[in-house]
Amino acid sequence: MTPAKDDLWFLPLGGTGEIGMNLNLYGHDGCWLMVDCGITFSAPGIAGPNNISRVQMPDPEFIAGRAGQLCALLITHAHEDHVGAVADLWPRLRCPVYCTAFCASILRRKLAEAGLLETVPVHVVMPDTSARYGVFDVQWLGVTHSTPQSQGLFIQTPVGNVFHTGDWKLDDNPVVGHNINTNQLRGIGQQNVLAMVCDSTNALVPGRSVSEGALYPNLYAHIAAARGRVVVGCFGSNIARVQTLAAVARAAGRYPALLGRSLHNYYQAAVAANIWDPDLTLIQSSHLGYLPPDEVLAIATGSQGEPRTALRKLVADSHPDLTLQAGDMLLLSSRVIPGNEVVVEGLIAQFEQKGLQVVCDDDSRRPIHASGHPASDELADMYRWIKPQIAIPVHGEVPHMQANAQVAKAACVPKQMLGTNGDLFMLAPQPGIRRAAARVGRLARR
Ligand SMILES: [Zn+2]
Ligand SMILES: [Zn+2]
Repeated sequence: MTPAKDDLWFLPLGGTGEIGMNLNLYGHDGCWLMVDCGITFSAPGIAGPNNISRVQMPDPEFIAGRAGQLCALLITHAHEDHVGAVADLWPRLRCPVYCTAFCASILRRKLAEAGLLETVPVHVVMPDTSARYGVFDVQWLGVTHSTPQSQGLFIQTPVGNVFHTGDWKLDDNPVVGHNINTNQLRGIGQQNVLAMVCDSTNALVPGRSVSEGALYPNLYAHIAAARGRVVVGCFGSNIARVQTLAAVARAAGRYPALLGRSLHNYYQAAVAANIWDPDLTLIQSSHLGYLPPDEVLAIATGSQGEPRTALRKLVADSHPDLTLQAGDMLLLSSRVIPGNEVVVEGLIAQFEQKGLQVVCDDDSRRPIHASGHPASDELADMYRWIKPQIAIPVHGEVPHMQANAQVAKAACVPKQMLGTNGDLFMLAPQPGIRRAAARVGRLARR
């Protein structure tokens, strides 16, 4: 199964029909281009909170068996479901890897841990630049999302052009970086886009996503009113959120510190990529214990209730840097990933038993979390700007992808193609789907 000169194919091996472990292939003229190579976690809730969640990734057999035809791996952004499996799977792919500086910093740490730093060729791409990979001309396009330097890809071939959105949202005030350049997107919409391959995560959510910049006053209100220590659980990859919290801490007379490995890793990547605002200083977490309670702001990993994370240690009184007491506050500036509800509820109950006030996100009134994915009105905007002939919803379970297809239809996209991992989406010369064309499956990390 090799694409001919007249063919343009899209073949997802992971992340279509599910949320997590994205691995996408584009095929044209004897050549394959891979977009993203991520992991997923088996839900920690299934066997209780002490179960170690297993890392899983797509079985790359289809492309590993023709790795000589694979011209490059492009990574859209630094989230685990897009970059997390590179160190595991690269030995079977052996192609050059391209990503932005922030993502490269995250990836290089993973490669170093796997002993592959000197082996894997990682090339840093400047956001909003163009390059040719094999037979594909690709324009990288900055998009707003919940981690810095996220990119969409405009993939051009002589037989058709595809806009691969990556994960995105629209945000006038993203705190880090800039909103999507809508003029640039309208310009792409003038270039006869055959297909748009699009994030479906929040397609069932009406309206628009909350702006990252809208969270500051709400977080400030909670933190300024607190009398004891404040701990905020959030995703380590969300540098904008960490910066907002550091700014809130300064305004509220508290000292911010990071607790947990992934927060430190992403913070260091942000510093290395010159993304971190140098005016916002953090203190060493080892100093937290010496501060009066009303000067403490700890930003902690583990908002999904994962084992061995900072929040787990804090609730068990086993964190080396900080001990919590009755009267302290926990803010969860995150959403609960579906499947983790029971575990997170258990964690909250444990904090409440210790006498902490726990505040979760309340989307309706004063949100303390903003999603990084487009709600339905944002999807409609994007379809109207890009004007594709075909909408291909990905990055979602079936109901999310169906909702995305509905939005596309309402926005006058002539054709919607719904499929799942392993289906071959033939875009040119004639649109059509060959079901189960490639073998797919999951591998567990060894
Ligand atoms: Zn993402
Ligand atoms: Zn994602």
